[in-house]
This record gives sequence, C-alpha cells and structure tokens, in this order.
Amino acid sequence: MWLDAKRRLRCRERHLEARVIRGRLICHASHEVNYPIYIIPLAFLALLAFERLFPLRKAKSRFAGRFVVNAVISALALTVALVVVKPVATGVLQRVTENHWGLSPIISANAVIQSIVAFLLMDLSFYYWHRANHAWPLLWRFHNAHHIDPDLDVTTAIRFHFVEIGYSAAFRAVQVALIGGPPLMFIAYELIFQLNTLFQHSNVKLPIALERGLNFVLVTPRMHGIHHSKRFHETNANWSSVFSWWDRLHGTLCLDVPQSDIDIGIAGYALAGDNTVAAVLLMPFRRQRDYWRGSDNTTYRP
Ligand SMILES: [Zn+2]
Repeated sequence: MWLDAKRRLRCRERHLEARVIRGRLICHASHEVNYPIYIIPLAFLALLAFERLFPLRKAKSRFAGRFVVNAVISALALTVALVVVKPVATGVLQRVTENHWGLSPIISANAVIQSIVAFLLMDLSFYYWHRANHAWPLLWRFHNAHHIDPDLDVTTAIRFHFVEIGYSAAFRAVQVALIGGPPLMFIAYELIFQLNTLFQHSNVKLPIALERGLNFVLVTPRMHGIHHSKRFHETNANWSSVFSWWDRLHGTLCLDVPQSDIDIGIAGYALAGDNTVAAVLLMPFRRQRDYWRGSDNTTYRP
C-alpha cells in the first residue's frame, strides 16, 4: 500500500496518470492529442471567409477548380496523417514520457523549463526538416507537390503529397524521441503548429502594422507568401513554421518583396494541366523538369 502511494505520487510529479495494469501500478502517459478537434476546421473556415473579404494577392486561377483539386489531395494527406503519423507520434510519445527520454529532461527537472525548451526545439527541428525538404532532391520531388499550387490560400495549407506525409512519420518519431518533455507540451505545440500553418498559408490581408508586429514572433501570410514565389532565392528562404526567429537566426529571412511582385508556384510546373489531382500525385514519380524555367523559357534562377 505504502509503495503504491509512493508510486502514485511519483506519477503525479511526472505529470502522468497512475494506472493498474495486470496487478501492477504504472505511470501511464495520457498521450491522446486531446485539444478540441473542432478548433482546426473552425479556424480554416474563418480564414477562408476572411481571405475572400480581404485578399492579399490577386488569384491567377479559378477558385472552384483549385478548391476541388486541393480538397482531394488534402483528404489523402489527412488520411495518411491519421492512419500513419498520429499513431507513430503518439506511440513514441508514450514511450518517451514513460522512460524520460529526450533532451529536455536532461536540461532541467522543472516541467515548465522542460516545456519551453521542448517547444522551441520542436519548432527549430521543423525548420531543418522544411529546409531538408527543399535541399534533398528526393524529398523535394514530393514537397514540390505543395509548391506547384498556382495560388496560395488556406486551401494550400493541407495540400501535401500523401507520400511526404507518410515518410514525415519517421522524422516525427525521431523528433519526439530526441526532444522529449511533458506530453501536454506536445499537445500545445501540435495545436499551435496546425493553427499557424493555416494562418501563414492564408491569403488574408492584415493591416501592415499588425502583420509587422506579429512577424517579430510568428510566420505570417506575407512572409510565407514569399516562400511560395517562383523565384529560386525567394523559395529558398522563410522556412520557419511557427516562430519567425529561426530564419532570422540562420540569415534566411526574406521580407523585402512586395506581394504584388510575387508570382506563386513553381515555374517548371505552371501549365494548367500540371495542377490536376492525377498530375500532382504522379509528378514525383515522373522525369523531373527544370523547376526554375517557365514554358516560355523565362528563368527564375539567376
Ligand atoms: Zn516549402
């Protein structure tokens, strides 16, 4: 009895749930991502409405056609995220929490400091993951499916090739295992990451002073819009996910481009036929074109 009470206390100290499994009391990580799931669709709908009312960039293509293509590609991506990525990440998180793995528990025993360190490391590691997706030709083939959308709005936010989502599970497993930290932190990061992904892809025109203020901390629509430009040196900038600091720290921040100057997409894949569901899904498996040269021979890589 005394031993059980001591164990229960230890579980509570580690922010874990005490559970009796097969007669033994163990500390169990309540690992389900348990933020109210409706927040994400609500944010999506709100941004969709705002970008219709206050658009930042003029669209080149018809919204209805793009919406259908992006909805199908996003549905496939979401399915793989739910079937592969979520179980892998939560399984690893369970082990990490039970065994105190990761860098953040080594840095401090204090749960608040652990959470701050882990939150920052999660975001920094996403910066490197995004950079790798542009730098490594095999990863870029798949990440390119996200970039060839000829316009950028909130419907682009989830439009990733399902294969990219599938192999990102391996990255997520390593990321969670190496960083470690309280499970609540991972839930908080996941929610903020998803919300900011929707926000930065949206075509919402914020008052410039408000956007500049937000951009000191966050990746904003104007900043991420530059990352979706056809110009090589603009695509290869602004890789941060939530905090804009990582681009500032690495010297990869690019802000001095007026939004009216940005041509969204990838020059080598800008034909109307390149943006059908089949073309986007098959594109990584086909012979690759010169990404930075348009069909009229204009080059976007000086
Ligand atoms: Zn990218």
